[in-house]
Amino acid sequence: MSNAFDEAQQQLRRALAVYPVSDDLRARLAHPEREVTVSIPVKMDDGSVKVFEGYRVQYSSLRGPYKGGIRYHPDADINEVRALAFWMTFKTAVAGIPMGGGKGGITVDPKELSRGELERLSRGWVEALYPVLGPERDVPAPDVNTTPEIMRWMADEYAKLTGDSRNGTFTGKPLDYGGSEGRGAATGAGGFDVFKALQAELKLPKSVSVVIQGMGNVGGNAAKIFHALGHKVLAMSDSKGGIYSPDGLDPDAVENYKKENGRLKGFPRTKQISNEKLLELPCDVLIPAALENQITKKNANNIQAKVILELANGPTSTEADDVLFKKGIAVIPDVLANSGGVVVSTYEWEQNLKGEHWSEKEVLKKLRMLLTRESKNVYSRSKKLKTDLRRAAFALALERLEGALKTRG
Ligand code: NAD
Repeated sequence: MSNAFDEAQQQLRRALAVYPVSDDLRARLAHPEREVTVSIPVKMDDGSVKVFEGYRVQYSSLRGPYKGGIRYHPDADINEVRALAFWMTFKTAVAGIPMGGGKGGITVDPKELSRGELERLSRGWVEALYPVLGPERDVPAPDVNTTPEIMRWMADEYAKLTGDSRNGTFTGKPLDYGGSEGRGAATGAGGFDVFKALQAELKLPKSVSVVIQGMGNVGGNAAKIFHALGHKVLAMSDSKGGIYSPDGLDPDAVENYKKENGRLKGFPRTKQISNEKLLELPCDVLIPAALENQITKKNANNIQAKVILELANGPTSTEADDVLFKKGIAVIPDVLANSGGVVVSTYEWEQNLKGEHWSEKEVLKKLRMLLTRESKNVYSRSKKLKTDLRRAAFALALERLEGALKTRG
């Protein structure tokens, strides 16, 4: 079972030591408000019925409707989803958007399902959970292994079951189905905005070298943006391993190669590298963009990056945080670094409810302004509290959560 929730609570305890809050808020943040586990029967292509386990954890609604993605993964379990929902509570507060924290999941390896089975499973998740969802209640989005197409099926199923045609319950939908411009690349683009906002403060050179673990929605888009804006992407990877070139990679060419060959191995003029070794490459910015618990006390001492930009959720353990802090490696925490996705998801929800369509330029400009402001806010708090960026980001979130609790009375 995942220990991600213990890690998340440990992060909270460490933040509370530098930024104490009321006993009321402290007690609330130790538990999710609601957890639902459901069984989803799916008719398989061979006529048999298979039952999958699905989840929705609604951690906190203090600042607005629950918001957070849905993960499809063989290792997804209630403990992992609870941790992810907890982090969403802090992420929406750091970003200052009017949302709470939630997360969902299904224990499944989607690569083993046909397209039809995947659609029936996704619609089944909605059928089992729709009474606790809704634009004013809980607004899910994509996460690992969930795509705009899956969001379309889910949004369609929700509309069928409830008759609600506003289309504001799921975000990350395709553009022709109420999605927002800019949502696809938002987490990677937002990560770049956060990096830019802190580049000078963290004494990074003008043009940086970058190593990226994971090349899905988040890692793939981050690689393309860093490359397009004049930085050197030294290494990229997927679940099977990575490739490395000291001369730099062209992320579009790498992605096309993977599409054609189904793997990264054999990409011209590169060396193969394991996901473990990739994390230890010398570089300016290391970007974990895959799964939790990648940088731990086992390998923290071997990290040679100057800065870690956490685009995955929970990639660094608290023990590793301490080692990295001592080594002078700044960790830009997930709750700030990867918040671009939920910010643009919230813009999508707002556009759906108001019946508007904003241009990509407008969306990305709003995102950049918000993330620049909140990145500087987190940085100045870390100086004021004499602490690392993770505790500082949590402190900012705690201040906003406490404010919401007081207003509610
Ligand atoms: P995705 O499914 O699009 O891609 C996941 C990538 O990670 C793939 O390239 C996969 O091959 C790789 N991967 C899987 N297991 C791995 C392993 N053991 N080692 C190395 N690589 C591995 O998922 P995504 O949406 O890009 O999400 C990646 C991370 O970013 C997750 O931690 C997710 O929670 C987080 N995140 C996603 C969003 C979003 O908007 N999608 C927003 C915020 C945070």
